[in-house]
Amino acid sequence: MEPAIPPSRDEMLALTSALTRLDTVNPPGNEQLVADHLAELVGGSGIDAEVIELSDGRANLEMTWPGTGDAPALLYCGHFDTVPLGDRPWSNDPHGALFDGEYLWGRGTVDMKGGVAAMVLAMMSFAQSGLRFPGDIRFLGTIGEEVDCAGARAALGREVLADIGNLVISEPTGMNLAVAHKGAMFVELSTVGKSAHAAMADQGISAIANMIELLANVTGIDWEVKTHSVLGPPSLVVGTIEGGSVVNLVPDSCSAQIDIRTVPGIDHDRLLAQLESIVDEARSSIPDFEGSLRLFGDYPAVGVDPEDPLVSAAQATLTDLGKTDAALTSVAYFSDGSIIQPPTGVPTLLCGPGDPNLAHQTDEKVHINELELAGQFYTALPNQVFRT
Ligand SMILES: [Zn+2]
Repeated sequence: MEPAIPPSRDEMLALTSALTRLDTVNPPGNEQLVADHLAELVGGSGIDAEVIELSDGRANLEMTWPGTGDAPALLYCGHFDTVPLGDRPWSNDPHGALFDGEYLWGRGTVDMKGGVAAMVLAMMSFAQSGLRFPGDIRFLGTIGEEVDCAGARAALGREVLADIGNLVISEPTGMNLAVAHKGAMFVELSTVGKSAHAAMADQGISAIANMIELLANVTGIDWEVKTHSVLGPPSLVVGTIEGGSVVNLVPDSCSAQIDIRTVPGIDHDRLLAQLESIVDEARSSIPDFEGSLRLFGDYPAVGVDPEDPLVSAAQATLTDLGKTDAALTSVAYFSDGSIIQPPTGVPTLLCGPGDPNLAHQTDEKVHINELELAGQFYTALPNQVFRT
């Protein structure tokens, strides 16, 4: 196979700038601006593109560059929304896409319009050269990743996610290979007691005392995976606790909110069942115990085995492109991978242009060299992924 010609620096700069000028601060999002822009860009190229309107002004984009056979597809994915501008003043217009000869400045340049531009231009390069692979190359552009991953959720069950063999998300990693990010579960525990004057404590049931016992059991949970090679161990933090009203009354209610950070291999449904059974056991082991549990946030961990062929393919591609110092790393943020990986089980890698420490910051900016490398990377990667 003759490799496709990757997008040039100027093409990368032009498209990233154009997308940066489209204000997709979420809320409200207005991601259809980006979806329409990209659909128009690839129109007539031979790439199937469909704008999927999800609500007023908000749309996902699904693209397919069809393969020659039925090998599992390589899915590229990026989100179209950005976080708000923040309270600190910017040095220049956050949607002005100022280029200073080295850096392109603006909200979303790092997280993650540079990555989106690189993936879409890579698909254009396949179309322009007519280069086809044994399976589809697809792109899913999503809404709402920064708030609730609404776009990725809406894509579940759709054709764009059918028979995918590998997933690469162009979240900013400085073009390093992020093989994992932690998951999170937010849980609220509540206990109910019976109030009584503290001088007659034996007539009451202390919700706080019962909560303390319950928390001792919860924090001693037996983790399904004790540690992960890159992320380390899972963690559990009691973030808030509230109960009681005055010092001389046996408290009749208490609640505590818990932040749990998980690693790949910990199944969230099983973890929730484990927590529920701890609450159930408290009903028999703690006298007069009454309590309940409520889940109010659920974002599974994402990860790929560092030995997975997808990781080797990405490493080989970067090395070919002259980036020999790419690290196997992890990131601290969530991605649409939390939604897409659990039901599909697809190996998922995060690799994209931009310093992750500049994401969500005032004066976000991305270096042109990284934009260029990203365009080259997504253009060359399928040659490695589909190598027989
Ligand atoms: Zn992002």
